[in-house]
Amino acid sequence: MRFARPARYHEGKQEVSRVQQSKRILTCAALALAAMTGATAQTPQSHHSARWAIVLHGGAGVIERATMNPKTEAAYRTSLAQAARAGAQVLERGGSSLDAVEAAIQILEDDPLFNAGRGAVFAADGRNELDASIMDGATLKAGAVAGVTRTRHPISLARAVMEKSPHVFLVGSGADEFSVHAGLEQVDPSFFFTERRWQSLVKQLKREGLPIPPRPVGAPPPPVVPVAEIEPPNAHRFGTVGVVALDRKSNIAAGTSTGGTTAKRWGRVGDSPVIGAGTYASNQSCAVSATGTGEYFIRLTVAREVCALVQYKGLSLQQAADQVIHKELDAIHGDGGVIAIAPDGQMAWSFNTPGMYRARQTEGGKLEIGIYNDEP
Ligand code: ASP
Repeated sequence: MRFARPARYHEGKQEVSRVQQSKRILTCAALALAAMTGATAQTPQSHHSARWAIVLHGGAGVIERATMNPKTEAAYRTSLAQAARAGAQVLERGGSSLDAVEAAIQILEDDPLFNAGRGAVFAADGRNELDASIMDGATLKAGAVAGVTRTRHPISLARAVMEKSPHVFLVGSGADEFSVHAGLEQVDPSFFFTERRWQSLVKQLKREGLPIPPRPVGAPPPPVVPVAEIEPPNAHRFGTVGVVALDRKSNIAAGTSTGGTTAKRWGRVGDSPVIGAGTYASNQSCAVSATGTGEYFIRLTVAREVCALVQYKGLSLQQAADQVIHKELDAIHGDGGVIAIAPDGQMAWSFNTPGMYRARQTEGGKLEIGIYNDEP
């Protein structure tokens, strides 16, 4: 089922131990058994000869064929393909999984379709407050930011926290300040503005009976005719982006970037920048990026939970992802999904919502893109 390559915790140093090897054999047996009994909710894929691989998500939620307009659907598929290609190019030329994660997320952050960077949802006070995190499976180093307002690519700021500061997690004005210090591209907050997300905010605030803040300074004037709702009215939340990747050196990494939830208040931060909840990576187990209602993902430490099931229970990656999403998350009535990758080339995605924007590719393989839950 898996292609045999030693997973290395510290690149080039620590060969896979005997215990790990026998664990892996057991896992293969478990996988084979699962395949025979059809035990998992979404079928595990085998990728014998994959050397590098990448999996992406663009958020999960009420994404249904019946309410999706074909033009919008095509736009999402094109964007996911572009981001996957950007990551794949890095991996193809021998770049690191961290570089691939950052490159693919930067594309999605610039794309107004997604709730990250430009196109992020608005907080109740009318600002875009951006959260992101990244983790390196080879070293267990991690970086995260929350509530940042001026960095074009929050994922790069998370990486700068990891690589250029002694810390893991920076928030608010301090994180904005560090971004300048780290030499990252700064933009006016109006750079992140999109009419569609502004209208979603106005609608949500009206629904909650909350005051509507003034239109942000620097935003274009309101359109004469209202913008067409690109998404169905009940789907105001999704669009967080995440990427997990495996490079030619068998190192894995994960990253996630989001604007959080529409009309969030009081400095609310979701799971996306929380290491262990929205993002986790360890060469000992797997790399995961999550999307969904962050409060549930924080409480379950979803990303780390998936990896713990792989590491300590010997579950296949797909079994672990399904266990967390379809059992543990369901049990507390949470909604959302995960993408995951392991050093041996296993890839998985699992979600309990009607859809999740997603894509994956392995070296020499075909790019697979999915939106709805009836796709593979
Ligand atoms: N997980 C994100 C948050 O709670 C939102 C999402 O993934 O849609 O901030």
